[in-house]
Formats: sequence, structure tokens, C-alpha cells
Amino acid sequence: MSQTTPEIQIPTEKLPDDGRFASGPSKVRPQAVQALAAIADDYLGTSHRKDTVKDIVGRLRDGLSTLFELPDDWEVVLGNGGTTLFWDAATIGLIKEQSQHLSFGEFSSKFAAGVAAAPFLADPMVIESATGDHPEPVGTPGIDLYALTHNETSTGVSMAPVRPSGADDDSIVAVDATSAAGALAWDPSHVDCYYFAPQKAFASDGGLWLAPCSPKAMDRIREIEAGPRWIPPGLDLKIALDNSVKNQTYNTPALATIFLTMHQVEWFNENGGMSFSTGRCKANADVIYGWAEKSSFASAFVTDLGKRSQVVATIDFDDSVSADDIASILRANGIRDTEGYRKLGRNQLRIALFPAIESSDLEALTTCLDYVVEQLG
Ligand SMILES: *Cc1c(COP(=O)(O)O)cnc(C)c1O
Repeated sequence: MSQTTPEIQIPTEKLPDDGRFASGPSKVRPQAVQALAAIADDYLGTSHRKDTVKDIVGRLRDGLSTLFELPDDWEVVLGNGGTTLFWDAATIGLIKEQSQHLSFGEFSSKFAAGVAAAPFLADPMVIESATGDHPEPVGTPGIDLYALTHNETSTGVSMAPVRPSGADDDSIVAVDATSAAGALAWDPSHVDCYYFAPQKAFASDGGLWLAPCSPKAMDRIREIEAGPRWIPPGLDLKIALDNSVKNQTYNTPALATIFLTMHQVEWFNENGGMSFSTGRCKANADVIYGWAEKSSFASAFVTDLGKRSQVVATIDFDDSVSADDIASILRANGIRDTEGYRKLGRNQLRIALFPAIESSDLEALTTCLDYVVEQLG
């Protein structure tokens, strides 16, 4: 808290039961942690090459196939290093010559920049838009990979992953779904590789990447691996694929992360699958945007309703109140990680709406926001 931030104590009865609203790592459900504790003695600290662990990896892979209703010929590939490492693996092992990137925020621009720096690829075609908006992909001869981002976590903009018309038949669509997977619907017929890390909507920990892949994406992986390009084994998607179908990873994974992810996927599936998990996000979005609409000092940053994220809400504040001060006061009261994305530089809060978060807690958050602003008066 800065020296000038007033101390405000929010009455306890107004506070949310769980004050975690971070956009990642995000709230982990206590039920999942308890379930992990319950099997810990037989699971944590045991070999990842033995059935106890491989069974959980298998349940995770099967659970994701069920949740996303993947066609039978898809495989869920996984490995260590999170989404950022997957970008490197995709740069080496998924792009043949030239990719097209939609760049509309911190994460989508990062992948494009990494590809631009790769000496063995042609310069990528990068289509940008202002923050708070997203561009559309443009089907272009010669582009062999389209890099889309389902939800740009830095700005709170989401887009439907759609295969662009006019794209070459053998081109593939790769979607960064790190914050969208499990929270927003998507259609596998428009996608070949839907990659993510589980510390967002899957309410687990970071350090793992998961990538459901279509036959076309797997063909691409095999084609590049068979060619002359040098691929370090740790970034080799063919090695990752071969291990994944055996329900294991190339090197030792974080077993707790895998368990927590599996638990969240099964929680979704037991309650109705994607309609359940996306429904929870929609309900959360209705609370926060509904409040912002009525508020005299707050408004949604993303004005186009079709692009406004139901996963991460970015809320602008009037100049009369400091969003940074509000976030600091909330933090001092146990409500965490509502700060805006630094690099956007707006007078803004960013609030996660993931399926693990209760709508009643978001309602309490809006009550707290009103209270704090009134006290700052
Ligand atoms: C969080 C996030 C990333 C980075 O994920 P890491 O697992 O930390 O590498 C990438 N893309 C998007 C859209 C994200 O939300």
C-alpha cells in the first residue's frame, strides 16, 4: 500500500468467503486440495512411471477428451514447462515455414515475437489491433500455421477460434487457450491444436502444458521431426506425443499439479461438462459487468459485447478514484490480486471469473468495491 492510500477496514460481513480473484495462478478449490491430501500417501512421492501416477494422467487425458467432446482420432498431448515453453516447442516443431499471428495483448504478442526471432522460419505475418479489441485471421496462401488466442488474459478480450476461409488445406490452426480452456466453448472442427496450462480455469498449479491435437497437427509434428531441423529433446513434440499416449511425460512432472487438474476436469464432467463450467463463468460475468453498468464510477473496458471476456473482466474506473488504491485496500482486507495488468497502464482492475470462483463471492466483491469507493469519497 502506498503511503497515501487510506486505511479502510471493510466490515467482515461484506467480505467474500474466498477472496482469491487472480487471473493466474487462480483460485484452487479447497475440495481439490482436500482430495489431494486424502490420496497423498499413495500418490505424492511415487514413481511417475508406475500405474498410480499413470492412472491419474490417463484420467486427466480421458477427462479432457470427454469435456471437449474431442473426435476419437485426437490425442491429448502434455509436457512440462507451461504455455511459455509450449510456444518454444511450437516454434520449433509445429510451424513449417511461416505462421500468421493475431496480436492483441501481452500474451498473443509474446508468441509472435518469439517466432519472429527464430532464424529457421520466415518472418511471421502479424495482424495487430488496439488493446480492448481483437483482429480477425486472414486466410493466406503459404501460411502453414494460424496462431489465435481464445482469451487475451491481459486485456479481457476473447474471440471464437475459427479456421479462416481461404487457408491452405494443409495449414493448421493453433489456439492459445491458456485462460479460456474449460471456461469458453470451442469447436474442434475449427482447431488443430488447443494448448493451455492448468493454473487458470482448471484451478491447478502452473508448470504443465496440455495440448489436444488433431490428426493434422500430429502429422505436422511427425513431418517436422522427420526433417532436417534440429530439435532439442525437451522441446520435441514428437517425444511428448509418444510419451503422452502412454499416459506419461518425457521427464518428471509435478504430480500435485496433474492431480489438481484432473480433479477439476472431473468436477466439470460430473456436473454437466462444458455447459456447467462455461455457465459458471457466464453467471460470474453477469455479476461483475451488471454491477459496472449500474455503477457511477466504473465501466467495462471492452465495449464490444461480443469480445468482452467471460473469463477475465477488465473494469475501468473514473479519474476521481484510483484503481490502484482500491486494489491495495482490497488486498489489505484479504481480497487478492484485483490489480490491473501493469503494462496496459489504465486506471483499471482485472478480476478473474473462472469456474472455481463463486458468483456469491463476486457479488460480495462488488459490495466491497462500492463500500471502499464510498469511504474514499
Ligand atoms: C497465463 C497465460 C500464458 C502464460 O502461461 P504460462 O503457463 O505462465 O507460460 C500464455 N497465454 C495466455 C493467454 C495466458 O493467459
